[in-house]
Amino acid sequence: MCAVCGRDNAAESPLPYSQAPWVLKQCAGCGFVYLENPPAYEALEEDFAWEKTSAKEEERRKEKRPAAKAISTAWKRFRQKVLKRDKLMDLVKVHIPGGKVLDIGCGGGGTLDRLPGSDHIPHGIEISKALAAEANERAQKRGGHVVQASALDGAGMFEENSFDGVLMSAFLEHESQPDKLLQALHRILKPGGCVIVKVPNYGSLNRQVRGAEWCGFRFPDHVNYFTPESVTRLSKQCGYDVARFRFQDRLPTSDNLWIVLRKQ
Ligand SMILES: [Zn+2]
Repeated sequence: MCAVCGRDNAAESPLPYSQAPWVLKQCAGCGFVYLENPPAYEALEEDFAWEKTSAKEEERRKEKRPAAKAISTAWKRFRQKVLKRDKLMDLVKVHIPGGKVLDIGCGGGGTLDRLPGSDHIPHGIEISKALAAEANERAQKRGGHVVQASALDGAGMFEENSFDGVLMSAFLEHESQPDKLLQALHRILKPGGCVIVKVPNYGSLNRQVRGAEWCGFRFPDHVNYFTPESVTRLSKQCGYDVARFRFQDRLPTSDNLWIVLRKQ
């Protein structure tokens, strides 16, 4: 079922990008691309836990295109360490200047540690047991806490209108019910609170040129493949205003797109 328009695409043929047994479909109604048979959440707690699959993928890339991988890693480090560029935290400073912040899929808590202000109280949801425990220890030092659950179950554990902001950097592409999750986050955000979203951009030039070799394809971790159009449509349907979505946030030359949503 397409999470954006609700169409059942069971009868449509899979996209050629599919990697058996994982079936990728493009919605015949709205064009949204998604994995038709995502792994169950329970499998993510241990079997497909992010820390394992991402390490495997890193290895695969290193073997396949060692030079490209080395350059991309060096560039990322240079941006963060030398240029001191951290787009996520730059957006946090503007759109979530303080208060309770929830990081969805917070891993071991590295992002929560980068929250700039002493006013920020870090919270998180993480499905992997080992990582959730590590992140919880870090968050508690600053007055927050982390729950070990799927994003959807975790969001249900927090109070209505309680968060100043939510971070979803490289998460929404993993969520098999992105519509339900955006709605659940809407409930726990305060009015005026923002969600900062970063997802791979399926509409990018790189995907169009490199096809199946595009770095955004990850089976079965990535279950949604958003474009600027589909992420905007889904967010509005879930009750958000678009607070920021500039040209530089969705450059066709970038593999990722950034969008800031605001609860009305
Ligand atoms: Zn659709």
